[in-house]
Amino acid sequence: MKVMKFGGTSVKDAGRIKSTAEIIRAENEKAPGLAVVLSAMKGVTDDLISLARTAEQGDQSYRELFSALIERHETAVDELFSAQDAGGVKEKMQVLFSELKDVLHGIELVRECSPRSLDLVMSFGERLNCLQTAFYLSSHGCPAVMVDAREIIRTDGSHGSAQVDFVVSYEKIREKLSALTALPVITGFIGSTAEGATTTIGRNGSDFTAAIIGAGMSADVIEIWTDVDGVLSADPKIIPHAAVIPEITIEEAMEMSFFGAEVIHPYTMIPAVENRIPILIKNTFNPGAAGTVIKDDIKPHNRSITGIASISGVALINIQGGGMLGMRGIASRVFGALAKAEVNIIMISQASSEHSICIVCKEQETGRALKELTGELSHELEAKRIGRFELTKNLEIVSVIGENMRGTPGISGKLFSSLGTEKVNVLAIAQGSSERNISFVIDRKDKDSAIKTIHKSFLE
Ligand code: ADP
Ligand code: ASP
Ligand code: MG
Repeated sequence: MKVMKFGGTSVKDAGRIKSTAEIIRAENEKAPGLAVVLSAMKGVTDDLISLARTAEQGDQSYRELFSALIERHETAVDELFSAQDAGGVKEKMQVLFSELKDVLHGIELVRECSPRSLDLVMSFGERLNCLQTAFYLSSHGCPAVMVDAREIIRTDGSHGSAQVDFVVSYEKIREKLSALTALPVITGFIGSTAEGATTTIGRNGSDFTAAIIGAGMSADVIEIWTDVDGVLSADPKIIPHAAVIPEITIEEAMEMSFFGAEVIHPYTMIPAVENRIPILIKNTFNPGAAGTVIKDDIKPHNRSITGIASISGVALINIQGGGMLGMRGIASRVFGALAKAEVNIIMISQASSEHSICIVCKEQETGRALKELTGELSHELEAKRIGRFELTKNLEIVSVIGENMRGTPGISGKLFSSLGTEKVNVLAIAQGSSERNISFVIDRKDKDSAIKTIHKSFLE
């Protein structure tokens, strides 16, 4: 049993849907027992979000945006089907468009788009695409049926990044998919609560959906089909000659994706690792390429590092003061305050002098972080045991990742001296005790030169 997931670029227009369908059809012929997971057409989720936001403002231009979305799907359908075959899919699409029209009208009337409404609006991207692709496959020799993941992926109600209930989902997946005779074409990214509210599991989440389906069906492999030849040693937008990593461990893949390599969503590895299912990254534009295998027992290799990743739009909050020395419980109060403010801490570093704690989080979360910290530490601030919090914006976290770094001396020396040569100023550094990741914070303007110089020193 195999799950194949295709991302937005693999289904971005009729031409791409045809090529993707050919890959699916050939695979289904070779080995029946396939499940397909699809994203929305590229850019459609973003378009749906702006549609909802425009309607929320009462701005009538949302109607034009809506027409453009309809037109994009209708153009695809016209190119995919003969006039004679298009009837059924067009009828079903009309039902979705009219439902979406009602939802948007509701948002316009109440001038409010709650996270719950936004999830419902976003769900249409995957639903429209799975509908047209399933119809296309069926009319081209591969009987397929669209499966709305809201029937099989159970989540809680944290809209926008809902938590998946694996036990319930696995049961529903098995029950639904094992009863089908046609190939299931499943909507990525969406799920529903026990009460039936539509949810989404986080942007870029269709990879995660594929892994949940794979685990539910005890698949032999989860294939993520995208627009690059596999996991590359760095973001190809910065290093165009970045090399494909043929095999990567689950932990390395998690670190790479958590620290910004969007080729795979970090949560994808969770159901896969628990159920010992390998993940294969493949390129729809180059299906003959071997791709990248993500699994635990990879062949030994002598690359000192595996890859480089980076996260943009981060800020650093520095909490420091002589009075912090030996002050018990300060770290727990700082983290407690940040948890209360729902701030996601990406990186922490504390000097052993205990003079300072430095926290890196998303720039847009710093306002509420500082507010909560100021409340929590008000006595210490008043007594001047802690100085004013220092906030630095426009930063970037760069991470160097690799299992082989463990126990290999000299890596950080080489790393920071190459940055020094490029005159890149490092603001904070963190290395986990796993030693498979060294992360550091730099100014945004230094990002490209930092990544280029590290890539050159270690990987070329
Ligand atoms: P999809 O729409 O198929 O889900 P994504 O856009 O989410 O595709 O992910 C693929 C993109 O990830 C690539 O086009 C590439 O630009 C980007 N990317 C960033 N870092 C890496 C990396 N280390 N390896 C491969 N791709 C990367
Ligand atoms: N369509 C969703 C997004 O754009 C999910 C995905 O593509 O994985 O975030
Ligand atoms: Mg993606």
